[in-house]
Amino acid sequence: MIESPLLEKLTGYIGGRWTDSSQGNTFDVYNPATGEVIAKVPSMPEADVVAAVAAGKSALRLTSPYTLETRRKWLEGIRDALKNNKEEVGRILCMEHGKPLKEAQGEVDYAAGFFDYCSKHIQALDAHTLTEKPKDCTWTVHYRPIGVAGLITPWNFPIGMIAKKLSAALAAGCPSVIKPASETPLTMIALFSLIDKHVDMPDGMVNLVMGKASVIGKVLCESPDVPMLSFTGSTEVGRKLVVDTAEQVKKLALELGGNAPFIVFDDADLDSAADNLIANKFRGGGQTCVCANRIFVHEKVAEAFGEKLAERVNRMTVGDGLKEDVDLGPLINKAGFDKVKRHLEDALANGASLVAGKKPEDLGDGHLFFPPTVITDVNREMCCYREETFGPLVPMALFRTEEEVIDAGNDTEFGLASYVFTNDAERAQRVAAGLRFGHVGWNTGTGPTPEAPFGGMKASGIGREGGLEGLFEFVEAQTVPRGF
Ligand code: ADP
Repeated sequence: MIESPLLEKLTGYIGGRWTDSSQGNTFDVYNPATGEVIAKVPSMPEADVVAAVAAGKSALRLTSPYTLETRRKWLEGIRDALKNNKEEVGRILCMEHGKPLKEAQGEVDYAAGFFDYCSKHIQALDAHTLTEKPKDCTWTVHYRPIGVAGLITPWNFPIGMIAKKLSAALAAGCPSVIKPASETPLTMIALFSLIDKHVDMPDGMVNLVMGKASVIGKVLCESPDVPMLSFTGSTEVGRKLVVDTAEQVKKLALELGGNAPFIVFDDADLDSAADNLIANKFRGGGQTCVCANRIFVHEKVAEAFGEKLAERVNRMTVGDGLKEDVDLGPLINKAGFDKVKRHLEDALANGASLVAGKKPEDLGDGHLFFPPTVITDVNREMCCYREETFGPLVPMALFRTEEEVIDAGNDTEFGLASYVFTNDAERAQRVAAGLRFGHVGWNTGTGPTPEAPFGGMKASGIGREGGLEGLFEFVEAQTVPRGF
């Protein structure tokens, strides 16, 4: 069992109090590196979720709102608490997710960055009066908190994803009911423990519920007291939320699946492209929605690029993320492992060839460590091309022309992240404009940052997180024209 000063309570948190499941049910949390159960946390029934919504409602203030200065202090408080406890929060994250410790601690810094950004730009949410005076009125625009927000997060960034949502919700003055993924609730409990100890917020501003997604999701979708849901996860569940909230016309912020193209032209710096691909692809064990999923390499440089990838991949160390010098941890669970294996088998059976890594039959059983793997000659009939693999498999497909590769990049229902490597600036601009993706890295494999808006086009989502666009997600503009 995991021991930590940040995990003295292993319960939900409602109305400013640590709160156990009213029915006493629990579920197990595993360390994917060892397979051990490291904690038991409450599985909360509908009544507890209803109580969390009621607590959020009681914390909402419309007529005497929390001032910008008050909200800024909450944000700074969480930022400082995260920074001061980065090692311990990172250790908990590493143990329940599996990603290497340094990466986990880096994620805590990343999370703190969202609270920092919102605290520094919160002034943008102040009311303003228009300089024009149409219809003989003075027009003032206010940014009102939308109300209690349901925040639902996935397991792949246990602290990063909640930071994106909670920072903007608090900046807006919205109370929230938060549901972490059942694979990684401990990092969330650690965050609540920090808020409880170090941040002076009204009871009910932040509430934590855990347990069955169907039970919690139902209350959040159906309650008229929750006018907004912010969700990061699969497109399948995102679609369900759209349907389940349609009756009440709730506001939705959705960050859903990706199928990122990573395009390497023949004039690119191949070493830099290979380094960037490795950093991008293997972050979080390849289990991120911005991971390159289809690598399009110009046919003239495909062989050379494959060799560079193989060299790098063969130097990587796979193991328990808590151990020093581990580059790649385990996958999150058996279903995740089996999916990557199925994609590899399918590609090899249909004409792809192995450049680096192990054959499916040599992967072994009873563990979740999937070696970094590179394959080439991939085509659109293969699962790894059409579906998000969510694991350390690098599938290369060859291309000849710019038009062809833009079409191939867009040949997916998703539109989250994409990458293009070329030293031709005009070509880069053309390709970025042609790709229907919310994020297009040019000569970089970097993902999102707190300072810039990030989100999906097409079936990858609605809305943006980060940047000023993200800061405005949880407010509604209210216009007050004054007649005299
Ligand atoms: P992933 O493939 O990353 O696990 P999911 O979409 O299944 O993505 O899950 C993302 C988050 O959404 C998790 O917290 C999960 O428990 C939650 N979730 C899953 N189904 C629902 C649902 N029907 N309503 C609300 N939340 C859900």
